[in-house]
Amino acid sequence: MNKMSPNVPPKQPAICVFCGSSPGIDPDFAAAARRLGELIAKNGYQLVFGGGGVGLMGEVAAATSEHQGKILGIIPDFLRHLEPPLHVKSEIVITATMNDRKAQMFAASDAFIVLPGGLGTLDELFEAHTNAQLGLHKMPIILVNTKNYWDPLLALIDHMIANEFARPVTRDLLTVVNTPEEAIAYVAEHVKV
Ligand code: AMP
Repeated sequence: MNKMSPNVPPKQPAICVFCGSSPGIDPDFAAAARRLGELIAKNGYQLVFGGGGVGLMGEVAAATSEHQGKILGIIPDFLRHLEPPLHVKSEIVITATMNDRKAQMFAASDAFIVLPGGLGTLDELFEAHTNAQLGLHKMPIILVNTKNYWDPLLALIDHMIANEFARPVTRDLLTVVNTPEEAIAYVAEHVKV
């Protein structure tokens, strides 16, 4: 309980998870997604995500829900039939556009954790990363590098820096970990709300 106001529980960070709307080829991707959802719930954090019940997104949300975690899903109206929500207890916000969705996901969150995914995941990651590069936010961006999935992206960023199309600080804005446990430990240590 909060010392200042005994009846108000302390606010816990909200973690925005970006990840694939597909499960990917390796069952370890889904296992990492489920473990992340479990850890979000067990640590009392809120999950903020794209609202769909498909692929790794669905795995994270299902595991968060199974462990009684709080969930906020944010989805554009037109996507609701393509990425139908899970039937779990969650707050769902319907937006008009993809950009509204991203803006609301960013506004609701205190940290980003990125699991393997496709172009949609990259779009969301790059929005967070480029906004951090512009100094528009200071939220951590944590890449979970399951099965070294993100190695080609990290090599591309190093290539950009070597060719002076990006500054070395660009790389420093990303925290790369191997497991959901490390991602949650990073949030616990660095995010205070
Ligand atoms: P993906 O990684 O392609 O499976 O997509 C993961 C999530 O990113 C899905 O919920 C997509 O709706 C979302 N997403 C966000 N921005 C985009 C975009 N520009 N194109 C496609 N998907 C997107």
